[in-house]
This record gives sequence, C-alpha cells and structure tokens, in this order.
Amino acid sequence: MNDKVLAALKVGPATTELREFDLPDIPADAALLKVEVAGVCGTDVSQYKLPLRGAPLIMGHENVGSLAKVGTTFAQEKGFREGDLVFLEHYLPCGHCEWDRIGEYRHCAATEWFYDPTAIRYGYTAIDIAPSLWGGFSHYVYLPLNAVIHKIPAGLSPEEAGLATPMSNGIQWTIMDGGVGRGSTVLIQGPGQQGLCCAMAAKHEGAERIIVTGTSKDARRLAVAKQLGADAVIDVQKDDPLESVMQLTGGRGVDVVVDCTAGAGTAPVLLGIEAARRRGGTMVVQAEGNATFPDFPIGRMTRKAMTLKSARGHSYRAVELALQHLAAHRFPLDVLTTHTFGLAEVDYAIRSVGGEGAPGAIHVSVMPWK
Ligand SMILES: [Zn+2]
Ligand SMILES: [Zn+2]
Repeated sequence: MNDKVLAALKVGPATTELREFDLPDIPADAALLKVEVAGVCGTDVSQYKLPLRGAPLIMGHENVGSLAKVGTTFAQEKGFREGDLVFLEHYLPCGHCEWDRIGEYRHCAATEWFYDPTAIRYGYTAIDIAPSLWGGFSHYVYLPLNAVIHKIPAGLSPEEAGLATPMSNGIQWTIMDGGVGRGSTVLIQGPGQQGLCCAMAAKHEGAERIIVTGTSKDARRLAVAKQLGADAVIDVQKDDPLESVMQLTGGRGVDVVVDCTAGAGTAPVLLGIEAARRRGGTMVVQAEGNATFPDFPIGRMTRKAMTLKSARGHSYRAVELALQHLAAHRFPLDVLTTHTFGLAEVDYAIRSVGGEGAPGAIHVSVMPWK
C-alpha cells in the first residue's frame, strides 16, 4: 500500500484541488476504508458553494468501500474483517446516548456538526481534525471505533450500494415517518434521486397510487419515476397540480405527502396541505435550518387534522432495509445511476447534480480509483 492518500479537497467556495495526505497509522480501535464509491447528493450542491467554516475539507458523505485495514479491537467490537464491503453512515455518534441505543444516530448531539464545531460528520469535517481523512472524495477514509458501518449484501455492486443513502432516506421518510403502506395514496414532490427513491419505497411497500411531481425540465426524471413505480406524474408547469391530484384520486386527495423539492419555496407545502385528504393526512417536509414561512396556513392544516413531520436523515434500520431493497433488484437501478466520475472531476460531478454539468444526471458517483 502506498503511504500517500490522494483526495479532492474543497479549498474555498465551489473550488476543489487534488492533494496528497499521509496514510495514517491505524490503531487497534480503528479501521481504514478504501473508498469504492462516494455518492454526490443535493446537499453537496448547496454546501459546496458556501465559504469554508475553518480549514479546507474533503467532501463526500455517502460512502461505500472495502475495509483495507482493521484494528484488532475494531474487529472484535464490530464484527468486521479486512476485505468486507461496507456502507459507511455519515454520522459519528457518541455511542452511549438515548438516541444511539435505538439506532437513531442522526439525533445524537455528537453528530450536530452544524452547531458544534468539534462534532465530526463524514463529508463535513475540516482536515485540521486528525487524521484529516473524513470525506469520501478520497482514496481512503479513516474509521474510528464509533463509525457506523453496514455489510453490503451479496449481489449488490458498489455503485448500486451507493444508492443506500437516498434509498434509506426514501424508506425513512415515506414508510417509517410518512406511514405509507398497503393501499396508501402518496404524493411525492420532486423527481430527483431522493424523490425517486421515495417512489420506489412506496411501491415496494404496496402503495395503491403514487403520484410524482416535477417541472418541465424534469421530463426525463418523470419518465424514470414511472419506471420506478410511479402510477402518475405531473408537470406542475404544464398542469395545475392540485386539480391533477384530485382527478387522479377521484376527488379524495392523498394520505401522505413527501416533499423532496429543492429551492421551490413554499409552494410544495401549500400544495401538500391542499392535496391531503379531508382529514388525517400526513406531510413530511424538509427545509434549510434558517427557513421561515410567512403566512403559513396553520388553521387550514389543523382543520384537516394533519400531521406534519420533518425529513431528517435516516435510522440504522432504514439503512439495513435500503440495502436489502436494493439487493432484491426489483427495480431497474441502472436508470438512476447515470454518471460516474474520478477524483479529478469532483467539481464537475457536484455541478452535474446541481444541473450545471453533465446533462441527464440523476445519481452521480465519484469513484476515487477510476
Ligand atoms: Zn447526502
Ligand atoms: Zn449519542
């Protein structure tokens, strides 16, 4: 093994450079991941443009790879061996709080990188925290004992396993949080990789009617949505989305709404409230941390006895279910995995997910050894 590690380093807003790091010593209670695939997600697009909060960092938080070195304590405690193909969660939990006990690492205080400058999260942590290798756009990633890894089932290629993050979010938000199940009607807004994985999750769970919305530039993605289980798609720029949902549901509205849009403002939430069934619908929303909602129609929402939930990452169980789901190959995953790029093309890979690079990008993978 070479004693240098090549990585793509974010050195400023929307700026990346290749840089070499020393291969760190791996103590008994740590491991080293050889990165096979680092997925690029919508969050990377917005994060990439922001100024650094401190030292430069290696991005890449949706990581699949093989364990290149495993310390003896790490092996004993976690049950993994060198050579195992694993999916690495981007959370590094404290390991002993109430949330970690139930596999909800996303809620652990130690994973709050946004508020706590000492919190480590893969893809978000600066290189001045030793040993610097905290992101997947790199040949190797460092795993301390509290890293959360999942074995990848046989028959799943690393690139397919790279869908584990959007798929686990899809299962978490649509099934576990939204409550979609057999016979449900569901409105999924936004046909990006995340919305498409929500559609697959709903289909797999036996939803009766799955409606996916997008804009005119999403025509290709809306076609893919149909291949992945959507019963109907709506171009919200061509057709009135509320009218269309009501038509498609015989005037009833939907049981569950999941918002997977980006930069669409308040419109998806307003549509969700109106498109929900007369009483007892559920809406799963996401928003930037500082987002506000002037004139939020809270009376309309409570009159419909709706439940509002927040889409915030995924639980351990959702990742396990996602890997099983992907390994079953019930859906044509190749329509999602559209592009792969090498380390030197990280900038272009991120731009492609943001719609400014390679056309037709849905799920984009960085393959550092390509
Ligand atoms: Zn992500
Ligand atoms: Zn914790």
